[in-house]
Amino acid sequence: MFFIEWGSSIKVDNRASIQQDPPHNYGCDKRVEEQSLVPATMPQWTLGIETTAHTLSFGLVDADGTPYPAASDTLRPDEGGIHPREAADHHKDVASELFAKVLDTNNLTPSDIGAVAYSQGPGLGPCLRVGAAIARGLATKMDAPLIGVNHCVAHIEIGRQQCGCDDPILLYVSGGNTQVIARLQGRYRVLGETLDIGIGNMLDKFARNQGIPFPGGPKIEQLANQYLERTPEPSMEGLQLPYAVRGMDLAFSGLLTAAQRLVDNGAPLDAVCWSLQEHAFASCVEVAERAMAHTGKSELLLGGGVACNQRIRTMCEEMATDREGASFAPPRMYCIDNGTMIALLGYIELNHRTTELQGSAIDQYLRTDQTPIVWS
Ligand code: AMP
Ligand code: MG
Repeated sequence: MFFIEWGSSIKVDNRASIQQDPPHNYGCDKRVEEQSLVPATMPQWTLGIETTAHTLSFGLVDADGTPYPAASDTLRPDEGGIHPREAADHHKDVASELFAKVLDTNNLTPSDIGAVAYSQGPGLGPCLRVGAAIARGLATKMDAPLIGVNHCVAHIEIGRQQCGCDDPILLYVSGGNTQVIARLQGRYRVLGETLDIGIGNMLDKFARNQGIPFPGGPKIEQLANQYLERTPEPSMEGLQLPYAVRGMDLAFSGLLTAAQRLVDNGAPLDAVCWSLQEHAFASCVEVAERAMAHTGKSELLLGGGVACNQRIRTMCEEMATDREGASFAPPRMYCIDNGTMIALLGYIELNHRTTELQGSAIDQYLRTDQTPIVWS
């Protein structure tokens, strides 16, 4: 059960929805034909709710689809990784305050919200359920259209919107996902992906083993830069790691173990951070380059939290320039998980469909290529 009290708080009790998620048929083309259409231009603001993992975020786009910065709060455990149940509790606890904040910041009231979009998947089940419960409650209360969207596709669309690129290969590098994606025949197709853990999870786990709290990626970047500052001629001598490419796919767990072994054997941590970044990012860029070559596309777009890293941005730019193409990366606030990208994709998709309550269950395992792409 969930309920909402206006003014002071949103209260979410998602225990019942955990047991009673209604059946759904997410991902089939038929769905698009069956859904009712809403006007091409939304009269009011579209709210986006992001809760796939460690972050709860509310974002907005206005009636023209212009994005506004999100209000976000991320669970940062003192030790250990993210526990899905704890993350869900965190989202529940901060939802009310954060919702008020995003409205206040933009001088809005709840009645200005004309549609509610939320991450329907993929992600951690308990976290997704909190977001879906909030979205259902708000949409019902305001009698506004509800739309569940694909989190991975949202990363792509905010990137396209922000960077003005048209038909890119997407290198999606986040905590839980690492995928190379291209739009082909009405879907964002996954051409290559990690066979084990996401690149961000790999960086976070390596960092955690060194006592660095979540998120570890930014600290690893800082240490790698520190190594370069103190090492005029950096060399891989003694710092070699396994290469993560498997055809068009990637694998990072061997890299993680080997990097840990280097540290255990006495290699300086900052040097290992540098080597880890070089190996992990080079493998992603190699697969992305092959995807560009095979599809004939000339644009590359970075997305996901690891795309905040300046080194991977530079490597992508160098590769794309060598191919006489171009590489793009959105502002960092739109690389990490954010509600604005969910609002934007909801705004786009509301021209084609809405989500009825019966079909609003989350899908932890929703794939990038399950969502029909019916917009340009
Ligand atoms: P996301 O799952 O898209 O929200 O992204 C979170 C992931 O991005 C975490 O694994 C972070 O460690 C990683 N990340 C954030 N900033 C950086 C950075 N500057 N360099 C590398 N990884 C980063
Ligand atoms: Mg993400």
